[in-house]
Amino acid sequence: MGFEKFGRKSFASQTKVESFVEYLAKGELSGTQCKSCGKQYFPPRADCAECLGNEMDWFKIEGTGNLVSFTKAGFAPTGFEADVPYTLALADFNGIKVFGRLDSSIPKEEVSVGMALQINILNLPDGQLSYEFVKS
Ligand SMILES: [Zn+2]
Repeated sequence: MGFEKFGRKSFASQTKVESFVEYLAKGELSGTQCKSCGKQYFPPRADCAECLGNEMDWFKIEGTGNLVSFTKAGFAPTGFEADVPYTLALADFNGIKVFGRLDSSIPKEEVSVGMALQINILNLPDGQLSYEFVKS
């Protein structure tokens, strides 16, 4: 399965981390971990910036995270115009920082830094795969 299946609009059809999409199809959000030094990456990287190793394992990002920061997008890049407004968020899952969208059904008065979040894998109507953060 190619990387073009990821997201509402994918800008890359081939990457060195295509397995990311296969894990998404199985309902898992995954990052990579360097086999040499153990550094973990999200988004997944095929090459380690720490030790320059290029052998990676995949690990599942799971459990409960905490909202670190967020912003509401009122304008969107090409391909996402129909989605605005939406909230972009950075969440921490056991030290792994994950960037994504916040579930749009969360009332805005409930959105606050530190709130507990979980990852929800999205199977979009057009067959694309993505993920979002939902309230834990
Ligand atoms: Zn490394």
